[in-house]
Amino acid sequence: MKAIGTSCPYCGVGCGLLAKPRRDGVEIAGDPEHPANFGRLCSKGAALAETLSLDERLLRPVSDGRRVSWDVALDRVAATFAEAIAAHGPDSVAFYVSGQLLTEDYYVANKLMKGFIGSANIDSNSRLCMASAVTGHRRAFGSDTVPGTYEDLELADLVVLVGANLAWCHPVLFQRLLAARRRRGARIVAIDPRRTVTAEAADLHLALAPGSDVALFAGLLDHLAGHADTAYVARHTRGSEDALAAARAVGLAGASAETGLPADELAEFYESFAATERVVTVFSQGVNQATTGADKVNAILNCHLLTGRIGRPGAGPFSVTGQPNAMGGREVGGLANMLAAHMCLEDAGHRRLLQDFWQSPTVASRPGLKAVDLFRAIGDGRIEALWIMATNPADSLPDAHAVDAALERCPFVVVSDVVRHTDTSRHADVLLPAAAWGEKDGTVTNSERRISRQRAFLPLPGEARPDWWIVTEVARRMGFPGFDFPGPAAIFREHAALTAAGNAGTRDLDLGGLASLDDAAYEALTPVQWPVPAAPVVPAEKRFFAAGGFFTRDRRARLLPTPTRRPAKLADDEFPLVLNTGRIRDQWHTMTRTAKAARLAAHLAEPFVEIHPRDARRFGIRPATLVRVQSTRGAIVVRALVSERQRPGSVFVPMHWTDRFSSNARVDSLIAGAVDPHSGQPELKHTPVAIRPEPVVWYGFAVSARRPAPDAALSYWALARAAGGWRLELAGDAAPADWSALFAKLCGIRTGSAEVHAYRDVQRGAHRLAAFAGHRLLAALYVAPGPVSVSRSWAVAQLVARHDQERHLAVLAGHGDSGMPDAGALVCACCIVGVRQIEAAVLAGADSVEAVAAATRAGSNCGSCRTEVGRLIDACRLSKAG
Ligand code: SF4
Repeated sequence: MKAIGTSCPYCGVGCGLLAKPRRDGVEIAGDPEHPANFGRLCSKGAALAETLSLDERLLRPVSDGRRVSWDVALDRVAATFAEAIAAHGPDSVAFYVSGQLLTEDYYVANKLMKGFIGSANIDSNSRLCMASAVTGHRRAFGSDTVPGTYEDLELADLVVLVGANLAWCHPVLFQRLLAARRRRGARIVAIDPRRTVTAEAADLHLALAPGSDVALFAGLLDHLAGHADTAYVARHTRGSEDALAAARAVGLAGASAETGLPADELAEFYESFAATERVVTVFSQGVNQATTGADKVNAILNCHLLTGRIGRPGAGPFSVTGQPNAMGGREVGGLANMLAAHMCLEDAGHRRLLQDFWQSPTVASRPGLKAVDLFRAIGDGRIEALWIMATNPADSLPDAHAVDAALERCPFVVVSDVVRHTDTSRHADVLLPAAAWGEKDGTVTNSERRISRQRAFLPLPGEARPDWWIVTEVARRMGFPGFDFPGPAAIFREHAALTAAGNAGTRDLDLGGLASLDDAAYEALTPVQWPVPAAPVVPAEKRFFAAGGFFTRDRRARLLPTPTRRPAKLADDEFPLVLNTGRIRDQWHTMTRTAKAARLAAHLAEPFVEIHPRDARRFGIRPATLVRVQSTRGAIVVRALVSERQRPGSVFVPMHWTDRFSSNARVDSLIAGAVDPHSGQPELKHTPVAIRPEPVVWYGFAVSARRPAPDAALSYWALARAAGGWRLELAGDAAPADWSALFAKLCGIRTGSAEVHAYRDVQRGAHRLAAFAGHRLLAALYVAPGPVSVSRSWAVAQLVARHDQERHLAVLAGHGDSGMPDAGALVCACCIVGVRQIEAAVLAGADSVEAVAAATRAGSNCGSCRTEVGRLIDACRLSKAG
């Protein structure tokens, strides 16, 4: 079968893929012709084929826990929303949507809420990652415009990465950058409190104090006063004097005091920025997710505007988005404070234009509730009906326990999703089965404004339907015209036509040139970067603002004073550490998809808190033990990862783990939910916490061919897929009366159905049990009073090994010849290469990342692990020298 061109459903890089359905699955490869990735894929993209199974899928509509027909479910949703609106007004209902939706899905949801229901209560999980960038752009440029392209990272002589762990969160873009550095010798500066993998690969790492970015860039602006592009500033900007005055008040000394960085380190960076014409500043969640997020963005934009380094090849500020279609959502107005087609809610002319275009009875005239406020309103009883589409707010929003309580209180909750059981869907009155990636059709826009097709290559399973279909069916049942779309192509045409309506160069987003695509042309659409006006400017300009032309009334950009402000809550005696949250390399969001791929779980298989050794000593935390992390809002229990890479005084916990995969690790349950006053984006990277050892008396590790069933009797558990089954970390605060009974219950071993071997060392408190069915290992459990030292990769390998009688004891021993040497902890998820294989290659003479790649293939695909490979080479060298 022919390969079908589509795009990755994960991050905002928006890589192109080729999907080839086969008899035994789907083959996924990078699309060599896609301009975002030119054939590259990261570990998550490369493992997509392993995530397509139908287990865990929601395949039929469900109402009050019972299967119902689509007609019954849709009628109930439409009637309940209509009743709430009639009784309590349009602002009594809300949609909470997602950057996972396709542009066409997003468009109709926004049209329904803002144009026909008449409320702006539609907000997106993009509020959690991009809202500060949107606000910063609109304040400076008059529009939410990302001026540059990915190519700029390759053309720049200096690339500044701020709050962006590109190596893990945007791996393909990072590899493009590293390849360009190898070719051209560009310099990379990483600005991040943590020594991330990205920071380790940088030429200079500025480990600033959490939340002090505004001061750092104010100091830079002050330094740049003598390097301004005066002609550009005079012709195309306003506000430079006030911005410079505010920056002067900070200066180098103030920046050094606020950031905790030595003045000479800062001066080196400032000088390097000042002396380099081609400079790109890439920023992401580390900038946006703060109560000062919008000011951080404007502090960065100020520096580029003052020097005129914007919109030129290799020069400009560059916001990279977290989600695959955060940009598409912004384009159709999927945030509570925006209108469709980058129009402004506050602009009466824009509202009129939209109402005429849609022929709608009304258009929302005031901003709706932004995500955090929306869920507070739900908790206060101000929302009667809520529809959540393609997202999991019970895990991803701050103050997660309060979100649970709000959802429980809400009179009517609809969830449309691909997954049956999530921490959010447990609160749903109606569940609507949505088409998943690979089954749905539409478009997405990546971080460089490039629109790509996402195409279906699998049939719709069960009764799943595309999101656009579900929304338009509800709209029609509510009696609204304007939703009779035969398919996504027609929706796209309407969206494109709207961007061109009344535009004439007054708005950045113009897709007029795509408004008359017929179905065949839409089907064949190749990746295209906007703007695409109906009458193209010649030569086509793919960047914005090199010659001004901002989208403010006077077409000039604004430099804004950005006085320094501290985060909402500072560490104190009770909560002495600062909690930062974020992503890890091989997981995505709340793991509903990536947790299906065993190789993605192998890199970091359980929730952890990364702690500097000094803080670990101070709070009595030993490596690999369990830690209670406590804030004013709640507590979680996770594994200690003691690491020099963590900044002293702060800790890091990943955002991914939910109640589906761990006993108590929803990190957002610790976060208070303070938001940026301008963007409404919550402060997810600065929560004061305390840590202490979790008092458990035994630790365990299990592998099992069947999915284990951990329960509340355990103090701790974390579950992950493994090749051939599952792996489970567990711990307890009291020894069970019968270890065999615990083993049988956990791993589903039925009496008489297996040969069970057991080993006990009472003195050492060690218990080991293994159950076999013939030559097959069904499950094994290893228990010790401290963290279990059995090699996880070796134990997992036993699930697929053939075991004869003599080797049963080896499984109990936790080592020995299994015919499968221990690869060690996974480093390269693309080629499945472990630490021990890399160490063996180094000992055999491989002395560079390239040589290790040649010997083991580690790092030869997406390259996300190359820094870790380099670190292992250095460690081996050191131990050899020692
Ligand atoms: Fe997908 Fe990885 Fe590309 Fe992001 S970098 S779009 S996750 S393949």
